[in-house]
Amino acid sequence: MRKIALFPGSFDPFTNGHLDTIERGSDLFDEIIVGVFVNTNKKSLFSPQERKGLVEASVAHLPNVRVIEQDSELTVTSAKKLGANFLLRGIRSVKDYEYEKEIMTMNHHLDAKIETIFLLARPEYTHISSSILKEVIAFGGDVKEYLPRPVFEALVKKSDHYEA
Ligand code: ADP
Repeated sequence: MRKIALFPGSFDPFTNGHLDTIERGSDLFDEIIVGVFVNTNKKSLFSPQERKGLVEASVAHLPNVRVIEQDSELTVTSAKKLGANFLLRGIRSVKDYEYEKEIMTMNHHLDAKIETIFLLARPEYTHISSSILKEVIAFGGDVKEYLPRPVFEALVKKSDHYEA
């Protein structure tokens, strides 16, 4: 059985924390499909199409990773359609753990054949989230080291605050 994992998220913006989880996961799974949520209530920095393109550019060095726009439906439904038998998620803190445990348990109830695998974030990424970076970006703070190069370059184009 090929081990295929779906890594779902908003990725607004895609960070080095997300990338690290995918890079480490790419050694564990035959294939990782990154699912970029199209519909999110969160105020978005990049459009879904921009986010998908930026994730693609950031994972271009990983041959067994591909990126899709994920439909508004249950994650387990998307996984099933894609032939993914695993969900991949990252955990940064106890707060993430509590939240992810609920989601995992519900997903298991919905489809017991799909297993969720968690990777603990590396210490250098445990303090970063897309939402905190968005707040810092809004006021022009230095976020370069937390973003893959294509994401930072897109930010430079979009915002008056940043220079390449
Ligand atoms: P969501 O909107 O579902 O929380 P995110 O784009 O914020 O989506 O995150 C997608 C996944 O990446 C989640 O499993 C999240 O815990 C994980 N993640 C987010 N930030 C980091 C980080 N800094 N290090 C490792 N994993 C992370």
